[in-house]
Amino acid sequence: MVKKLNEIVLKRNYLNVYVCMNCNAKLRTTQAKVALRKSKCRKCGSKDLRLKAKERRGAKV
Ligand SMILES: [Zn+2]
Repeated sequence: MVKKLNEIVLKRNYLNVYVCMNCNAKLRTTQAKVALRKSKCRKCGSKDLRLKAKERRGAKV
C-alpha cells in the first residue's frame, strides 16, 4: 500500500515536470513538447527546460 502511494506521489511530482533553466520555475509539460520547443516557461518565457531531477532527492522511479 505504501509503495503504491509512493508511485502515485512520484508520478504526480516528477512525471512530465520540467524546470526552467533561467528562473527555476516548475512547469508541467510533455517530453514531446519540450523536444519540439513548443513549451516555454510561463514566468520568464524561456524555452530552456530540464527535467526535474529525481535521483538526487533519493527517489527512484
Ligand atoms: Zn523561467
